Amino acid sequence: MKQRSLKEKWTAVTSLVIFVSYALMCTVVYIALHAWLSNEEEREARRTMDDLVAMFETQQGRLTIEDFQQNNGLMNAIVDRNETAYILTTNGEPIVQINNAAPVYPQMNVSFIERNNAFIFNTPVQIGLFQGVLQVIHPLNAFTELMRYILIAMLIAGFAALLLSALIGYQLANYFMRPIEALSQEMTRVKEHGFTERTHVAYATNDEIGKLLNVYDAMMEQLEQSFEQQKRFVSDASHELRTPIQALEGHLSLIQRWGKHDETVLEESIETSLIETRRMKRMIEELLQLARRERLDGGHANVYDVVEAVALQMQYVAPQLTLHNQVKQDVHVNVPDSVLHHIIKNIVENAVKYSDDKPIVYVRTILDERCRIEIEDNGQGIDAQHLPHIFDRFYRIDAARTRQTEGTGLGLAIVKALVESYNGDVFVKSVVGVGTVFIVEFDLFHVEKSLN
Ligand code: ADP
Repeated sequence: MKQRSLKEKWTAVTSLVIFVSYALMCTVVYIALHAWLSNEEEREARRTMDDLVAMFETQQGRLTIEDFQQNNGLMNAIVDRNETAYILTTNGEPIVQINNAAPVYPQMNVSFIERNNAFIFNTPVQIGLFQGVLQVIHPLNAFTELMRYILIAMLIAGFAALLLSALIGYQLANYFMRPIEALSQEMTRVKEHGFTERTHVAYATNDEIGKLLNVYDAMMEQLEQSFEQQKRFVSDASHELRTPIQALEGHLSLIQRWGKHDETVLEESIETSLIETRRMKRMIEELLQLARRERLDGGHANVYDVVEAVALQMQYVAPQLTLHNQVKQDVHVNVPDSVLHHIIKNIVENAVKYSDDKPIVYVRTILDERCRIEIEDNGQGIDAQHLPHIFDRFYRIDAARTRQTEGTGLGLAIVKALVESYNGDVFVKSVVGVGTVFIVEFDLFHVEKSLN
């Protein structure tokens, strides 16, 4: 049994259960029917006997045994066509016979017996001076025949039930096992070929199997995501860190060869090495941020307060910046405070980096079903051809690279990843030479109104 598939076991068990219950039911019905019909037969035979005895009693003194011998019309009217009745002497000799449905049964000493497929009743009778025995024989041929038919019908129906239950059991097992088989095939495919081979197991019902498939899907989604993140981190890190490491290596060998004696080479190389090291440090931090990206649950942020905090922080980093906080007060969004701070700070930092001397930034909110936060700057703007790519990892516009602004090309990728993990959206609009607007949308968080 251990080697059998679940489908076979299911089929076997359901058929067996259905068949055994059917067989039990048939046995009970058969026994009950047998008892009831047999009772009916006995009652009929007794009725004939009682009618005859009653008839003899009413004729007592008027008719003799000889009258009955010569004319059995009276008895004929009472005895059923398929029954036989005898008047026997006490020695068991028949004197009168009505019908010939069965041979004589000289069972003289019993009142009732079932023998040779018939009920036999004996009752002592007195007709005039004659003392004898009245015997009624009630054959059971029709009854036995009927019971045989019933038995055969039950056996045929039982066999059909067995087939039917096996068929239904098999179909049921098939129906329930199909999604599980599909799931197991899918798992094997993923195991052999990786996540690229992942498909969705179609199953619309929300029963236990549906729930299992949903859990599996969600689990695979998470696994795939973390797998992708890990793969991306490794490839990004190895690709992007190669350049600064090579630069570092170049400068160190420069110092090794000439720098020990040449002050200017030493100074320059140490300076560049430090810049590269800082860049690398920042890149590693940002890469880790992108890879780690854990979702904090349950937080919400007051947009106005967050913008105020960013403005305060930027005063020290970029005193040349003018930040206008035009956000409506008491607007809360469904994203933790620290995350919203990080998002807005990244965008404002870019506004400072990619603008001329006097950056001016406006932050405002537009309330709809969601909260739309607009961050507008008066910077250099972004050419339309770059707009679709600025959220890609490591994407930097050439001008930014040549201007040697500090940056890794990861800032906006982090913003987008953060926004999306809190069910938000981020867009950008820009006109070169005029400025850029970043639009971040989040679900509103409704703060419970206080009692008064
Ligand atoms: P970086 O580390 O280079 O700033 P980001 O992902 O933050 O990386 O930005 C990607 C590129 O998009 C930047 O290199 C820059 O060219 C452009 N960019 C981002 N924000 C602005 C802005 N406010 N104005 C003009 N260009 C921008």
